[in-house]
Amino acid sequence: MTRVIDRLRPGKTVFSVEFFPAKTDEEERQLWRAIRELEPLDPAYVSVTYGAGGSSRDRTVRTTGRIASDTTLVPVAHLTGVNHSIAELRHVIGSYAAEGITNVLAIRGDPPGDPMGEWIPHPEGITYADELVRLVRECGDFSVGVAAFPHLHPRSVDLESDTRHMVNKLRAGADFAVAQMFLKPEDFLRLRDRLAQHGCDQPLLPGIMPITTPRVLGMTTQLSNMTIPDEVSAVLDPLRDDAAAFRAAGLEITTRLCEKLIAEGVPALHFYSLNRAKATREVVANLGLADGVLKAA
Ligand SMILES: Cc1cc2nc3c(=O)[nH]c(=O)nc-3n(C[C@H](O)[C@H](O)[C@H](O)COP(=O)(O)OP(=O)(O)OC[C@H]3O[C@@H](n4cnc5c(N)ncnc54)[C@H](O)[C@@H]3O)c2cc1C
Repeated sequence: MTRVIDRLRPGKTVFSVEFFPAKTDEEERQLWRAIRELEPLDPAYVSVTYGAGGSSRDRTVRTTGRIASDTTLVPVAHLTGVNHSIAELRHVIGSYAAEGITNVLAIRGDPPGDPMGEWIPHPEGITYADELVRLVRECGDFSVGVAAFPHLHPRSVDLESDTRHMVNKLRAGADFAVAQMFLKPEDFLRLRDRLAQHGCDQPLLPGIMPITTPRVLGMTTQLSNMTIPDEVSAVLDPLRDDAAAFRAAGLEITTRLCEKLIAEGVPALHFYSLNRAKATREVVANLGLADGVLKAA
């Protein structure tokens, strides 16, 4: 099975796509429509998030396994340490291996319910992501990714400790890192510089949420610990009641952000797809990242 790092090459920006496991039959159909619509564009990899509950976790294993067996895509399975003992984590990692998955995004996770609630580690589990990185590495020949935060992790007390912990996580054996969403390229580039200053040269992928609706814009800020930049508000706020104009302007802003990141030599753009293909396809077409398959509108 292909490893993520083998799909990232210096000098050429590619793209990857993130999905979440479906809860209902209708969501499942939607998810697979999106996967099938993105497959011909040959993304570097596609990843599936890991939920807080047992059934959603099983769906992550199943969905990622089906991507491995039924598509030409390179799957990455997310894994968190929430409410898991080390023995259970080993079991999930074994299930991934049995499904032929060799790429894992190792994440500490948030307390279920309130993401900023108190983190209570499982008595036989892990406390921070670096421990999970080591565990996945110990369990087999996996390519391991970690999460990164251009606006600092919401729990971090300062830039210095945030950077130190991020560096520890990379040094624990991560091959690549994927960043939370942001809207100003400088915020991502400063994070990249901070890691480079500590000798961490693993590929760092910017996380991109195509802005299609006011709700999606709201999610972006909520998840990423940032405020909407003035220049983005100035364009989008007057369009909040005009869905088509908001979407067009939002995707234009997303495209311009991606262009700046490509000019800065990022290895791949990681799209948070919300299990829909259309917006990602449009931005990828605008950027010419799937020429021959897609043409810009
Ligand atoms: C790309 C990406 C994918 C994600 N996928 C999922 C998913 O599939 N499922 C899900 O539930 N959530 C997911 N999340 C959200 C993630 O679970 C939360 O952001 C979580 O709060 C942090 O996880 P982490 O791996 O970054 O934690 P950590 O790296 O452990 O960091 C958590 C906090 O602890 C600090 N810290 C780290 N090590 C130490 C230490 N030794 N001592 C003291 N402090 C320390 C860090 O600075 C940070 O403030 C994802 C986030 C991103 C960016």
